[in-house]
Amino acid sequence: MAEERETLMKTVQYSMPRATKNKVEAIVFKTLQEKKHLEEMDIPDPELTLRPDTTKTLRVTKTKKYYHNGKWEFNPIEKEESWSCCMNAEKNSEGCVAVKCDKSKWILSSYT
Ligand SMILES: [Zn+2]
Repeated sequence: MAEERETLMKTVQYSMPRATKNKVEAIVFKTLQEKKHLEEMDIPDPELTLRPDTTKTLRVTKTKKYYHNGKWEFNPIEKEESWSCCMNAEKNSEGCVAVKCDKSKWILSSYT
């Protein structure tokens, strides 16, 4: 750390030859603080991240349902039947509109 500080002092002094010793020290201090702060941010411990792993504690109950919001009808351009919303010619296709269903979501409307 002390060595790093020395090197940094020389670098700053070299790039700013007219700066006073106080100013150089201040810049070095600030640079080292920022570096230290960045190192602290980069902690590999997964428990200390801002995005903790919730897969163990939260059960994913979200499912997706798909449907077509258009009509299954005869398309005169393609000369075949297709969904009017996405032109999908497969009647049993999954659907172009996805709806998220969250079974664990609290339904609060009945409590009003
Ligand atoms: Zn569709």
